[in-house]
Amino acid sequence: MAKTKGVKRTYSFGSGQAEGNKDMKELLGGKGAGLAEMSRIGIPVPPGFTITTEVCSEFYAAGKRLPRRIEQEMRAALSKVEALTGKGFGDAANPLLVSVRSGARVSMPGMMDTVLNLGLNDATVKGLAERSGNERFAWDSYRRFVAMFGDVVLGMKPEHKEDRDPFEELLEAKKKARRVALDSELPVEALRELVAEFKGAIRAKRKLELPADPFELLSMAVSSVFRSWENDRADAYRKLNGIPSDWGTAVTVQSMVFGNLGESSGTGVAFTRNAATGENEFYGEFLVNAQGEDVVAGTRTPQRIAEMAKHWPEMARQLEEVRTRLERHYRDMQDIEFTIERGRLYVLQTRNGKRTGLAAVRIAVEMADEKIISREEAVLRVEPESLNHVLRPIFDVAAKETAIRSGRLLAKGLPAGPGAACGRVVFFAEDAVAWKARGETVVLARHETSPEDIRGMDASAGFLTAFGGMTSHAALVARQMGKVAVVGCPALSFDYQARTMKVATARGPRLIHEGDWLSVDGLLGEIIEGRIATQSSEVVGVLIDGTVKPADAPMYRLFTRLLGWADGVRRLKVRANADQPDQARTAIAFGAQGIGLCRTEHMFFGEGKIGPMREMIVAENEAERRTALAKLLPLQREDFAGLFRAMGSRPVTIRTIDPPLHEFLPQDPAGQEELARATGRTLAHVQSRISDLVESNPMLGNRGCRLGISYPEITEMQARAIFEAACEVAAEGVKPQPEVMIPLVGHWKELANQAKLVHEVAARVFAERKRKVKYSVGTMIEVPRGALTAGEIARTAEFFSFGTNDLTQTTFGISRDDVGTVLNTYVQKEIYSVDPFVTIDRDGVGVLMKTAIAAGRATRPGMKIGICGEHGGDPNSVEFCDAIGLDYVSCSPYRLPIARLAAAQAVLKQRTPGRGKAKKAAKKKSARR
Ligand code: PEP
Ligand code: MG
Repeated sequence: MAKTKGVKRTYSFGSGQAEGNKDMKELLGGKGAGLAEMSRIGIPVPPGFTITTEVCSEFYAAGKRLPRRIEQEMRAALSKVEALTGKGFGDAANPLLVSVRSGARVSMPGMMDTVLNLGLNDATVKGLAERSGNERFAWDSYRRFVAMFGDVVLGMKPEHKEDRDPFEELLEAKKKARRVALDSELPVEALRELVAEFKGAIRAKRKLELPADPFELLSMAVSSVFRSWENDRADAYRKLNGIPSDWGTAVTVQSMVFGNLGESSGTGVAFTRNAATGENEFYGEFLVNAQGEDVVAGTRTPQRIAEMAKHWPEMARQLEEVRTRLERHYRDMQDIEFTIERGRLYVLQTRNGKRTGLAAVRIAVEMADEKIISREEAVLRVEPESLNHVLRPIFDVAAKETAIRSGRLLAKGLPAGPGAACGRVVFFAEDAVAWKARGETVVLARHETSPEDIRGMDASAGFLTAFGGMTSHAALVARQMGKVAVVGCPALSFDYQARTMKVATARGPRLIHEGDWLSVDGLLGEIIEGRIATQSSEVVGVLIDGTVKPADAPMYRLFTRLLGWADGVRRLKVRANADQPDQARTAIAFGAQGIGLCRTEHMFFGEGKIGPMREMIVAENEAERRTALAKLLPLQREDFAGLFRAMGSRPVTIRTIDPPLHEFLPQDPAGQEELARATGRTLAHVQSRISDLVESNPMLGNRGCRLGISYPEITEMQARAIFEAACEVAAEGVKPQPEVMIPLVGHWKELANQAKLVHEVAARVFAERKRKVKYSVGTMIEVPRGALTAGEIARTAEFFSFGTNDLTQTTFGISRDDVGTVLNTYVQKEIYSVDPFVTIDRDGVGVLMKTAIAAGRATRPGMKIGICGEHGGDPNSVEFCDAIGLDYVSCSPYRLPIARLAAAQAVLKQRTPGRGKAKKAAKKKSARR
């Protein structure tokens, strides 16, 4: 933290120069660094300066007060802006107005405070009127400033959704009194009155006179922006996105330019490529004679950028040039905010544009094809998690057609977030959270959304709004969160009190009540009444269902190319956790190079198996148990043969039975009676057996290898089924590679006991079948003692696989089944910044893993080691697995593409120093507790 004299606290930019640059995001925030860089490369930006994030730290360290030295520096930086603009801050004849904006190192759209038009007071408003030749504009800017300052800096913005903004109320009353519908119809006199009334409201509510000194106002605004770093919505956003709370925000003070100075002025937002689909088209919206907030707030419906050439051909040409220049310079899709003031173009902001997963894949691959970036960079550009969008369901075409034919199409809006969502409609963000908590799937519908709604949006499957364009709050958040969204649908109107939504449909008005089912097509922008079945993605259509031909599937082709590039880079192999042949086939389609975990107990719940399994459990002696196991043998053999056939010569790791036996028994009296009947035993016997098996802590009781040691005949049966199936399939010409895995080993003798059994059975089966199949016997490392004594265990184990679900449970001493509520509290209180069952705890569990790897490979050089806990599909954990030298990760089939991409990125991040450093630091932090 900087507290010393020599530290630079402000960085100026403007007129083709800048003290900062794009690499200074940590200090200047994304916005400040972006403006500095744009200024340096000759993009027209209004001059200004950025106050560093270090000042934010100083502010908090000093009990939320600005450091004294900053005043001098701000005054010096302001005079540079005055020199560049030829205006004076507080100069009544020619006033300089500035905006004061937040800017963290990663974008947190709309979460923190902004103040515009600062520099206006009763004297300067007259100068602005004269200079602009537009008295109405000057007073309109002034009334906007007073309201914004009151709301943001003086905290007069209402806290509850139902409450009205005091300034809005006065404005509405004024319009009523003047009998006009629009703000723009209010005459100068009315605006003047409003300024006085707004100040009166401040006086009444805050008991203070709005200062006239612009510098005093500026200091207050800067403090307010710093304070907003800790407001509730920013806090919620940080938690959702794993942004550390100690980063702080920078503040950028920049001269204002006005898009509302008449018909040759305007403002807009644009993406250099389509943020929803990734198509290489200039995509955005603009409004003539408007301020930037009008576009983002969605209070007027904007025009498409493509139409700009008709209005302003020269501006459209310049903007196109800016587009190309920025995209080439930043080598990524940009999200640009611009303003045109009386025919002069200014770019206010550029940043890497948020995009859907679909767009991310398309932009990355196409930019590599256009040679803007390398293929390796393309691989690094796609967040592995965002591949979920590409693999997401869409509506079943026939079901949707039927719904539309039967008149259930309610309305159409803008397709802001692709995908298909179906849920019960709620009208308040808080309700979305509450309904989700009780297990409902919800769609949040509102007139418009705002940053306060962030938690509710996170809880919803999709959102609908009546107002706003493709760059409105709801649209941006949908893309970032990967939610389905339809925005800007004017057919919707709301009665929040009655909790209803009226839809103006082609057939007349339709009233939708809270809790009614809605289906939302975020690709086409359609809102449909009722529930519609969904169908899988295009990629899934080609790879899994075989319902789509690759030639008809452009997204599939882009996806395949990107993953092909990733596969060319990654070192880690990927395997799937799969128990059934169909899962194995899906896994192969998604690139599995083997099965890393077949949980054999899952098979027992399949057709015809639970009966003999239960019979085996209620048996009174070994002979009876063996009789029941003999019935299970052919069924298990069939299961394994199916897996071997599906996997061909790829390795298949089969784990011997793991869960405690009571999990297989019926808990209800009817089921128990049925079991007694089926096994020819008394109900009392069955119930007594069940009560024998009850354990206070079954996750640490008779489970894992302890079962196989207590009942060796179970392991024998499973081993026999595995080897007989392997021989059977080998006879068909396939070369199966079984790997028998013993769970929950903490002592080398446990493994030695079970491995001996497995080897004996293998030898017997091979002799009987006169055929040998190559196999290995290994163990899971999933209890701390197993990790700590891995060197001894490796004398027997031919491979290790980390069971990080149990290893996390046993290392933390937290029951993985009962921890839900505790975890929420822990994450909320920042004791854990992420759930350790999702992302590997590198400092604890990770240390045990490293210990086990070193010891295991010291005993058995080159030993194959993988992971099959859920972490195997988590990108952050995959990166860790690569770093500690695992051979493979194993995850659920649908996460395989994510794991493949994450594994490639792990390699590339190592190769490209500096790349993703900030992100890595954030993730590293968030992986810690
Ligand atoms: C594990 O513990 O990580 C594991 C894969 O086994 P299971 O989840 O079946 O206990
Ligand atoms: Mg386990």
